[in-house]
Amino acid sequence: MVLLSLRSASARAALVLSLASAALGCATSHTTRSLADGVTVHTFRRDYTNAHVVSNGRDFFMVDSGLEANAPALEQDLRASGFDPSRLRAIVLSHGHADHAGGAAYFRRRFGTRVIAGRGDEAMLRSGHNERLCPTNDDARARFASDQAATFTPIVPDVTVDAERSLLDVTGIPARVLPLPGHTEGSLVVTVGDGVFVGDLLRGDAIWPTAEVHFYMCDLEDNRRDVQTVLDQVAPRAAQWFPGHFGPLSRDAVRARFSRTR
Ligand SMILES: [Zn+2]
Repeated sequence: MVLLSLRSASARAALVLSLASAALGCATSHTTRSLADGVTVHTFRRDYTNAHVVSNGRDFFMVDSGLEANAPALEQDLRASGFDPSRLRAIVLSHGHADHAGGAAYFRRRFGTRVIAGRGDEAMLRSGHNERLCPTNDDARARFASDQAATFTPIVPDVTVDAERSLLDVTGIPARVLPLPGHTEGSLVVTVGDGVFVGDLLRGDAIWPTAEVHFYMCDLEDNRRDVQTVLDQVAPRAAQWFPGHFGPLSRDAVRARFSRTR
């Protein structure tokens, strides 16, 4: 979901910069991070939603595909950074909401890209409608109606995930994926090197390198437990966290916001 409070002057400045970048046809943000094991992450951001390209210099796959309307521009972002979209090994959907899964049908139609998603979100992906959203703050309540009504071209995943598994065979990169229901029934977490991709388990901030509760979460206490589970068990050595919106975030930033035992 789009995640920007316009209350602060700095947030308004960020919006102006973002709009200026969009007008020029560029991703509003493109960051590159190096992970352990020789893996590089390129994060392309449009309309505050991230698409992460995970590459080992030979093979590459993407985590999330952004809004459907932005898919042609995302294709151009990939090409401009040296990624031939016809060689994209797979798109892993962190979950089935329109701002993460919307672009998947475009890439599959044009390039035959394989789509991997959580079993619990299969019905949502087949319907092309966001399931029930629970706003967590006033900004989310202000935009709830449009986010709840968002639609996208329905898609049937090529691979559904209902238990932890390696992605090496599908992507050529020794990443792992596991279900972590919460934000949606089929939410997935991807680990690779010393990084972890967490979708909307939490979010970053438009300005600061801080972790925040996502705009939409139905059980906040369960969400806190899930973040702790990723910190302690799923990715205990992950130094870099890649959320679906803003970021990336340091492990310390996540602990500072979510952990009771910091
Ligand atoms: Zn979401």
